[in-house]
Amino acid sequence: MFHPNRYSDRLRSHHQAQAPLFALCAGEANLAEHLRHLAADTSRRRTVYIHIPFCTRNCTFCNLNRIQSSPPDDYEELIVQEILTYVSYPYVRDGVHHAVYFGGGTPTTLSAPGLRKLLRTLRSCLKLAPDAEVTIETTVSDLTEDRIAVFREEGVNRFSIGVQTFSSEGRRLLGRRGSGQRAADKVAFVRQSGFQNVGLDLLYNYPGESEDDLNEDLDHIESLDLAGLSFYALILYEGAALHRMISSGKCAPLGDLEHEWALFNLILDRLLGRGFTLLELTKLVKPGRDNYDYIRIRYENGDTLALGAGAGGRVGSLIYRNPSGLADYRRQVKSSTGLPARGFAVTQEYDFAHRLVGRLQFGRLDWADLDPLPNADTLCSLAENLTAEGLMQADDRGFSLTREGVFWGNNIGREFATALVKLFKGS
Ligand code: SF4
Repeated sequence: MFHPNRYSDRLRSHHQAQAPLFALCAGEANLAEHLRHLAADTSRRRTVYIHIPFCTRNCTFCNLNRIQSSPPDDYEELIVQEILTYVSYPYVRDGVHHAVYFGGGTPTTLSAPGLRKLLRTLRSCLKLAPDAEVTIETTVSDLTEDRIAVFREEGVNRFSIGVQTFSSEGRRLLGRRGSGQRAADKVAFVRQSGFQNVGLDLLYNYPGESEDDLNEDLDHIESLDLAGLSFYALILYEGAALHRMISSGKCAPLGDLEHEWALFNLILDRLLGRGFTLLELTKLVKPGRDNYDYIRIRYENGDTLALGAGAGGRVGSLIYRNPSGLADYRRQVKSSTGLPARGFAVTQEYDFAHRLVGRLQFGRLDWADLDPLPNADTLCSLAENLTAEGLMQADDRGFSLTREGVFWGNNIGREFATALVKLFKGS
């Protein structure tokens, strides 16, 4: 088992890698005020994120920002109202949006007419690039024929389906609906409906998962002709039902780090070279079929118009988040400005560090990335130390993560984020 001396535990989320960067924000600012003073800027790359924090069922491992099982009747209307508020500002109205992402929760808890209404409002009110990537996250059970018809008719062109595992036993343990075969049939149906860019979420190292179980998941994945695969090691959150199930002995504990490493390698061994390449730490794609523009634009410090309860985004140099409670969110949408009262101004240092940590998420650090820094010695020695420990490898352009480095990628990102904060703040 490869376990570098420098890390006691594995970080499994990019949020943990980026957390130190918040120290580089300049302080609070008002979003409406900020938008009033922003000149139109058609050069910025932009995305839209729509948060639908509802799920028809609670997965046992989940601690995400969800509110209740089904959206209230006025939820689409609140988002439409938000869009209308934003487009009253020329900065938003005149900018071109290159990617739209419906995330959650489960966006497909919205009805087919509700989804149609949102997709049509986005297209009629905002400028979307002709080739804009429009992604919907969904679960297998919510992928009904009427919703699929709406996606086809309203230009959804990228799917992220939260299958997690095709093992029926694993699905029961994780609180997912239906058998593994039903999940595979549904994904195949979406592909046969003419959608090219269909990807899955795969969870590995769930309690009791063996290499044989994972091999069966990978058999399905290979046979489904997917465009992409997000693969995540299960994170056991204290508040999650799965944590209680394990503590009370109702199910097996998670496999240890050695087992997690073996499963991680199994995924890469089976899929790399069979059409898939590694796009970022937890994402395999088939080149030419899934470019994942949404995440690229966010890491490049592009704008993200955040809509819906709990959605977080960025407009110009301000990052902000909508209230996650439904009552507070509704109050905000109906307030005099219709916008969050406060956001946080980002600095040039924040942008630099955010982009660089983003590059590491994609597995590289180039000398050119460090050029704007007056003193990059600390970062260079960090990269050299990581190289000596087998986590990075040097080449003509800079450094790339080794496979071990990809496994520990969020720890590495966090080390760089911390070093950058220290460099810019002196502490
Ligand atoms: S569908 Fe996603 S957000 Fe909803 S409970 Fe399951 S893992 Fe959590």
